[in-house]
Formats: sequence, C-alpha cells, structure tokens
Amino acid sequence: MKGTTMLPNCDIRTDVPLKDYTFTRLGGNADYFSTVRSIEDARQTVLFALDRDLPLTVLGNGSNVIVRDGGIRGVVMYTPHLSAITVSGTQITAEGGAPLISVSQKARELGLTGLEFACGIPGSVGGAVVMNAGAYGGEIKDVLTRACVMDENGDIFTVEAADLELGYRTSNIEKNRWIVLSATFDLKPGDPKAIQAEMERLTRLRREKQPLEYPSCGSVFKRPKGHYVGPMIEACGLKGLRIGGAEVSTKHAGFIVNKGGATAKDYLALIDEIKRRVYEKFGVKLETEVRIIGED
Ligand SMILES: Cc1cc2nc3c(=O)[nH]c(=O)nc-3n(C[C@H](O)[C@H](O)[C@H](O)COP(=O)(O)OP(=O)(O)OC[C@H]3O[C@@H](n4cnc5c(N)ncnc54)[C@H](O)[C@@H]3O)c2cc1C
Repeated sequence: MKGTTMLPNCDIRTDVPLKDYTFTRLGGNADYFSTVRSIEDARQTVLFALDRDLPLTVLGNGSNVIVRDGGIRGVVMYTPHLSAITVSGTQITAEGGAPLISVSQKARELGLTGLEFACGIPGSVGGAVVMNAGAYGGEIKDVLTRACVMDENGDIFTVEAADLELGYRTSNIEKNRWIVLSATFDLKPGDPKAIQAEMERLTRLRREKQPLEYPSCGSVFKRPKGHYVGPMIEACGLKGLRIGGAEVSTKHAGFIVNKGGATAKDYLALIDEIKRRVYEKFGVKLETEVRIIGED
C-alpha cells in the first residue's frame, strides 16, 4: 500500500523506507510517515494516530536509532522540517527538528557561549533533549531552560528543565511519551574568537577519532562508571570484527559502521557479541545508548 493522505497542513505517506532517514542507513519501512512542518502538523499527526488507534514514533535526525528490519508499525512523525530558531537576548529557542549543530553555530554567530560542545552532535534539538546529548564535558542539561512538549492527546505545555529528569543520556520524555516541539537554551555572552577556536578544536578531535566517513549511529554503548567502552572493546580484540555489513570500527571501537548492505540483524548480532565478549573479559555489562526501535 503506497500513497499520500493529505491532512490540512502535512502529508502522510505510507510504506516509507526508514533507511533513507537514519544515519545507519538500514531498517524496514514505516506504515505511515508524516513529515511535519509546523506545530499544527504535529497535532494533526497525533490526532491521526489517536483516531485510528495507531502507535506513534517520533523520528528526529535518525542519528541515534537502529530501526529493526521489519520496520515500524503505526505512524512515524518525522520532525527535521520543524526547524525555526529564534533569539531573545541570551536565550535561543529552537524547534524540535532544528539541527543541534545549527543552534550551536547560531550561538557562535551571536557571541554566546555554552553550546560549543554540541557543534558536532548530528541530532535534532528534540533528539538531543530526549537523550540529554553531550560531549567533551558538556551536556544539554547545562544549558537547557525549558522545553515545549505535546502529549499523546495533542495537548501542548511547557516543562522546566529541572522537571525533565535529565541524566546521563536520558530524560523522562520517552517515558511520558511527549514530543519535543521546541527547547530554550540560556547561554552566556562570550568571546567570539574563543568560541570559534573551541568549536574548531572539538571538530578536529571528532575528525581524528571518529569514523565519520561511514554510516553509523555514533557511540553504540553508554559509558559504564569507571570504564571507557572503546578501549575495552579494543582489548577484547574486536576492532574490525564484522557480521554481514556491520563492522566494529577500526578507528573507534565504540562505533559500529555500516560497510555496505548491513541489516539491523547484523548490527544487533554484533552488539550482542560485543556485550558477551566484554562481559567475559571485564565482568562489565554494556548497555546500549542507541535506541533500538521497530519490529524484526
Ligand atoms: C557520528 C555521530 C556522532 C555522535 N556524537 C554524539 C555525541 O558526541 N554526543 C551524543 O550525546 N550523541 C552523539 N551522537 C548520537 C546522536 O546524534 C544524539 O543522541 C542526538 O541527540 C540524537 O538526535 P536525533 O534527532 O538524531 O534523534 P533520533 O535518532 O531521531 O531519535 C533518538 C530518540 O529520540 C526520540 N526523539 C527524537 N526527536 C524527538 C522529539 N522531537 N520529541 C520526542 N522524542 C524525540 C526518538 O523517538 C528516539 O527515541 C552521535 C551520532 C553520530 C551518528
């Protein structure tokens, strides 16, 4: 079943391949795929799902998900076109689909400091708030003031950052099934040259250490207390281990790259093997940071 159902302001397509919308370039199809461009589109999408009793999944930039090969039942709401960014003094408000990198660049242009850490995180603002994304000593929690969210009935309200239970790569947004419509960051005036220099330094570090030339979902695992994931995987001799098209990166063992034609099944088998070997050698149970969604 392929087609387009027009709603007042957004289009909902059917049977859409999610590999075209995720960084790993794999995964099955979405039954319904709604590209939202406004808050009203988001509300219409929520009501579309509600009316038909269909599950709703939000997809931002797709940089932290592995979609299983059977795809996603129900409705996928795709947010990257909901991307306005506005400024008021030292506060930047960005819609949920805005690229976090663009918000970081906007802060740099305005001479505002606090979002330099985010200059290479390839997610949307919504995905970054949900994940409390962070890098190089900074995290969303440090700069987020509040988020505007929609619940599964289409109601919209504001939640203060302190009430989002932001922790290491987690928040209460998934549990509450909220959709992040926008987020407000409070920054501080800074030295534009220093901000620029810091962003260049972090970009260099990423290019040196991460396999950015291949599709991946970034770091697959959370960092366990007192350990570093990459070195543990490397010490198990797993760099370069390949299952199907999925490979433990030879550049950064915490990444799994798609070397061509990988399936979610390949990725998940490799994740299980890494977990098993790391547990065997170090007694550490690795937990995935990446969200694994959809059906086999
Ligand atoms: C090369 C590379 C480098 C990376 N480096 C980092 C890094 O340094 N630090 C870091 O923390 N992460 C990093 N990541 C992971 C990823 O970029 C972040 O987790 C990012 O915040 C995910 O945003 P997204 O829009 O891509 O989310 P998606 O992958 O689309 O979704 C992730 C989760 O958030 C939910 N979600 C997305 N948008 C919304 C919304 N608007 N409302 C409600 N729920 C939503 C989804 O349902 C899903 O559960 C990296 C990834 C890659 C590929």
